[in-house]
Amino acid sequence: MGFDHPAGSRDSGKLLLTSIGAVYIVAGIAWVIGQIIHGEPLVNLLIVPLLVGIPGLVVLLGTHRLPRTDVDSDFYSVIGKWCLGSIGVSIVVLIVYHVLPTDSLSNPSRSILILSALSSVAGFGIGIHDARAKTRAREVTQRNRELQQVRAQLERSNERLEQFAYAASHDLEEPLRMVTSYLSLLEDRYGDELDEEGEEFIEFAVDGADRMKSMIDALLEYSRVETRGEPMEPVDLADVLATVTKNLEIQIAESDATIELEELPRVMGDRGQLQHVFQNLLSNALEYSEDEPPRVTVSASRDDSMWIVSVQDNGIGIPRESQEDIFEVFERLHTREEHAGTGIGLALCKRVVERHGGDIWVESEPGEGSTFSVSLPTVGPQREIEPRREGY
Ligand code: ADP
Repeated sequence: MGFDHPAGSRDSGKLLLTSIGAVYIVAGIAWVIGQIIHGEPLVNLLIVPLLVGIPGLVVLLGTHRLPRTDVDSDFYSVIGKWCLGSIGVSIVVLIVYHVLPTDSLSNPSRSILILSALSSVAGFGIGIHDARAKTRAREVTQRNRELQQVRAQLERSNERLEQFAYAASHDLEEPLRMVTSYLSLLEDRYGDELDEEGEEFIEFAVDGADRMKSMIDALLEYSRVETRGEPMEPVDLADVLATVTKNLEIQIAESDATIELEELPRVMGDRGQLQHVFQNLLSNALEYSEDEPPRVTVSASRDDSMWIVSVQDNGIGIPRESQEDIFEVFERLHTREEHAGTGIGLALCKRVVERHGGDIWVESEPGEGSTFSVSLPTVGPQREIEPRREGY
């Protein structure tokens, strides 16, 4: 992740660290020279320059390697400050120790040199830790900012799409009304003069216009899921499914279907929109049935903070490769002659469920039936299952 660094802060941090390392190397060498001038044998002198020079070398090499670590160069000065701080503390400790009446150092300058050199390495280590933590914190902040920007962009583009879909479908309604009314005028006024083929053409045109109206209505509804939604509130799904089965009474009776509603929970949601979702799922379960009468079961199970509500049928099933596509707008697996429909029902369900913070998916084998599952947020800790077991 890249940031814009003020070059000054990076360079001054590096310069400070290099200077600290260099000072101890030079001090180690200077110590040896000083002692030789004072006539000390060389072998006695090696220990001090090693204890001073090696820490200096460690700080110097560590600083040289810093650009290859994940520490942000803006925080090199933090490492420098930790080094200086550690050196300062060690010097103060030695001075205090030295001035105490009972204890004093035999060679204060040597002790200060060795201890402060070792402390500079300790400060360097702690500084890297601190700088790394600061680098992480900055990356997280930056990432959050980027995520917020992407989210805002997505929301804006979503809004524009909604407005476009709304405007397009709304504006199409008027010319479509004109087509439909002139077609019926044509039929009323010149119906007697048309031959069989002419009548059939008008019938096709009326049918096309009707289908277009259904699609426009569905698109309008799709574009209004966010804007026309009601606030979320506790919704008793047992009630919702009772209304849905009532609305589908005729379709259920005609297909001789059995609908079994198991215990259903209360969820947080928009009652009207949830009714739409389950009406769509149930109506599909009845529509895409095989030769035998449809058997549909609606059940629920709990998964952490969500309820999974499933609608299972014994219908024609859905091939694996189409199980995601069917949730897209106008995606259909059958011709109109085989099954009527606009192809927007499941896309609408998906949008509604997503507005509820949930998900929708299908498990199915062709010829074995399908199970559509919807995850919806729970209401809270109170008793959410309303016992109900009814057949329709
Ligand atoms: P529509 O039913 O209007 O065509 P949907 O979006 O509701 O549109 O469904 C999309 C497609 O998914 C349908 O055309 C159908 O092929 C398939 N489908 C939906 N529900 C089922 C089901 N229960 N069993 C089998 N196929 C289904």
